[in-house]
Amino acid sequence: MFSSNECWRVSVLGVLVLSLGCNGLANGKWEIHDVNRPQPPIVTPGEYSVEPPSDAIILFDGSDFSNWQSREGDHVQWKLEEGQYMEVVDGTGDIITRDSFGDCQLYIEWAVPEKIEGHGQGRGNSGVFFMDRYEIQILDSYENEPYPDGQAGSIYGQNPPLVNASRKPGQWQSFNIIWRGPVFDDNGQLVKPARITAFHNGVLIQDNFELTGPTRHKRRLPYQAHPDRLPIRLQEHEDSVRFRNVWIRELE
Ligand code: MG
Repeated sequence: MFSSNECWRVSVLGVLVLSLGCNGLANGKWEIHDVNRPQPPIVTPGEYSVEPPSDAIILFDGSDFSNWQSREGDHVQWKLEEGQYMEVVDGTGDIITRDSFGDCQLYIEWAVPEKIEGHGQGRGNSGVFFMDRYEIQILDSYENEPYPDGQAGSIYGQNPPLVNASRKPGQWQSFNIIWRGPVFDDNGQLVKPARITAFHNGVLIQDNFELTGPTRHKRRLPYQAHPDRLPIRLQEHEDSVRFRNVWIRELE
C-alpha cells in the first residue's frame, strides 16, 4: 500500500514516463509509422453484425444526417443513399456528431470502395475519432501492407491491430469499440490516459490499449486537457468510404 504522498509521487512518475513516450518510441521499440514493425497476422473473420440493443442511441440508421454536422456546424455534404448508407464525398470535410460523448461503446459498419485505387494510406482511408482527436483507423488493409500503425483498426501512429481481420474491398465491415477517455485533474494534468478495446468484424484487435496522446500524422503529441465529453468525428480522407448502422451506448 502507498501513502497518499507516495501515491502522488507514483502518479507523477507515471505521467512523466507517459509524456516521455509521447515524442519517442511506442512500447519502447517502434518509431511512429515504422515500416520495420511486424505486420499483424491475417485472420479471416466470420459473419458478424450487431443490431442496436434497446438502450443504444442511434447515430445513423440510413434515414438522414440529423445527428451529424460539419466541423464548422454546417449541414453534412456527404452522400446519403437513403435507407442504406452514407458515403464520404471528396473535399467536403470531416463530419462530427451533434451531441458530445465521453466513455462509450460505439458500433459502426463501414465499407471501403470495391474498386482498388491507390496504395498504402491512399486506399479506402477514413477513421473514427473519439473526442474529436483520437483516431482508430479505417483503411483497405486487405492484401495491402501500409505501415502497421496506420492500417485498419490501428490506433493511428501508436498501435497496430493485434491481427488483420480485414474483409475484401466493397464488403461491409464493423468496429465494435469500448472507449474510455483520458482523465485530467483540475490543473489540466493527465491523471489517466485514454484506453480502447476494439473488435474488427468480431475479432479482438485492440486490448485495453493505453493511448499516448491525440492523433497526428508523423507526430506523437502529448495529451492536452479537454472536456470529458466531445463529439465523435468521421474522417473525410478523399476516399469514398461508406458507413451504416452506427450506434452508441454511453458508459459510466
Ligand atoms: Mg484515417
